[in-house]
Amino acid sequence: MKIQIVRDVLEANDQLAGDIRNVAKKEGFTLVNIMSSPGSGKTTFLERLIPELTKKGLRIAVIEGDITTTTDAERIAQMNIPVAQINTEPFGGDCHLGAEVILPALHKFDLSKLDLIFIENVGNLVCPAEFDTGANFNFVVISTTEGEDKPLKYPLMFRVCDTAIINKIDLIRYLDMDISLLEKNIKQINSDIRLVKCSAKTGENLEEAVNLIVSLVNSR
Ligand code: MG
Ligand code: ZN
Repeated sequence: MKIQIVRDVLEANDQLAGDIRNVAKKEGFTLVNIMSSPGSGKTTFLERLIPELTKKGLRIAVIEGDITTTTDAERIAQMNIPVAQINTEPFGGDCHLGAEVILPALHKFDLSKLDLIFIENVGNLVCPAEFDTGANFNFVVISTTEGEDKPLKYPLMFRVCDTAIINKIDLIRYLDMDISLLEKNIKQINSDIRLVKCSAKTGENLEEAVNLIVSLVNSR
């Protein structure tokens, strides 16, 4: 019985995720879901990326997911782009965003005026990977401070993502970590995944992420 309930929840989510992809197709925007553990640099990545993508002519909005607080949404709003905040605490403190919260958030925007919408998912390397948000592309941000073993310990996240952003490369020289081992472990879980190494803080190699996102938007 319990198994049946879980299946129903995931099936309902998948159906809504399909509806979201239909809305994206009809309105002509691309939805990119950014996931990671807490503190890996999702918000800083968006803060650095969005001005560059805007310069390339893309009209952008962000859906911010957190259990509580609006601090990330306030940082994004400073760039004068539309932001929708989802706080999950009033409905149980979910540690992920399901399609049922993304769909109403999308309708807060004037979708006809947008090319690209980012979802900053709740910081969590586990269950955000289980819930299809309806995104066209899924990114995982993994920072060099998290250790080389995380792709092996949290494989589903790396399996469902098409792109892994290895962030905080500016810190490598202070860390006892092997970046080639991290890359190897990511590829062991998902050999098709794209890897981009950068530092959202210093801007090092951010250009590669900018160009990738522009090409993903243009490919649709
Ligand atoms: Mg954040
Ligand atoms: Zn969760």
